[in-house]
Amino acid sequence: MVEFLNLKAINARFENELKNACAKVIDSGWYIQGKEVEEFEKNFADYCGSKFAIGVANGLDALILSLRAWKEMGLVSEGDEVIVPGNTYIASVLAISENKLTPKFIEPDRNTFNIKASEIENHITKKTKAVLPVHLYGQICEMEEIKKIANKHNLLILEDSAQSHGAKINGKKAGSWGDAAGFSFYPGKNLGALGDAGIITSDSAEFSEIVRAIANYGSKRKYINDFQGVNSRLDEMQAAMLNVKLKYLDIDIELRRNIASKYLRGMTNDLIRLPEVINDEAHVWHLFVVQTDYREQLANYLKSRGINTLIHYPIPPHKQKAYHHYNEQRLPLTEKIHESVLSLPIDPTMTEEQIQEVIIAVNEFKI
Ligand SMILES: *Cc1c(COP(=O)(O)O)cnc(C)c1O
Repeated sequence: MVEFLNLKAINARFENELKNACAKVIDSGWYIQGKEVEEFEKNFADYCGSKFAIGVANGLDALILSLRAWKEMGLVSEGDEVIVPGNTYIASVLAISENKLTPKFIEPDRNTFNIKASEIENHITKKTKAVLPVHLYGQICEMEEIKKIANKHNLLILEDSAQSHGAKINGKKAGSWGDAAGFSFYPGKNLGALGDAGIITSDSAEFSEIVRAIANYGSKRKYINDFQGVNSRLDEMQAAMLNVKLKYLDIDIELRRNIASKYLRGMTNDLIRLPEVINDEAHVWHLFVVQTDYREQLANYLKSRGINTLIHYPIPPHKQKAYHHYNEQRLPLTEKIHESVLSLPIDPTMTEEQIQEVIIAVNEFKI
């Protein structure tokens, strides 16, 4: 039996440390905006190689509030266009529409699933103010090229780094390339809290101060409100969990890379297309996503052999009821990807036997 992701086993490895950290927070009597958050923000900014990090309630808020801060700064206004991949999790798009900005869906690369600089450049209009690259499934986008295009056209970059903590291009990590980046610590992410949590990274002091204020009732000083803000804060308990788990993130990434490299070498079934990797450090393998014309059969077959799979994602945002006014838009590549992707288990606690079990089962799949 191979679970898709065994969160209990993942966290059990740090059981004592997590329980001690919990107890410390309980005993401190201080639960919001305290030392754990401050320490985690510093640790995570250091980890990413960015100057600032601002803890928020979840990954979606990290993206929403970043765009909101740019609105408050006068850098974008209602109706402006934000370029976003058609194949992404709905959160990337919700962040745009929540701010009354217009999502401009573009097609990804068929092999890496990520958007490319050339495709971005083809879709820039007078109203385009920002681009929202998503480092999908854990692989960082070609950020050097994207940055060049953004600079050339004066576009802001907001990285959706929710799936890519630690992914690098030329040694520079996801979250340190854009003008801002949003991360999620949803329990199933590579760095997962034990509840909801998120963070924004940036090198801009002005942006960081404003976004922090917006996330805290629009207030920089207690009872003085500069913005019509919201309450979206990272709490002490989750920050304490994350301070423990951040220390082990690189180990877990290596464990995921080891599984991925075994899958890539071992899987030889012609019915299945393996994911393409730019290079080792670029991918942190949040998900191992294969493509096949026989997705349902493959998922059912693996299930019958005790191997659980998931689909990321079954319906692209522009085909969702929530975005009914985009339903007629054609994004053939994106739609094809959504019809053919299947995520195989990739979990840092998988045993060697389980890894081999998945490889053998995939290789024995026939139609
Ligand atoms: C998980 C995820 C988010 C949202 O994070 P939450 O913490 O669940 O709000 C945003 N974008 C992508 C690509 C994600 O995978």
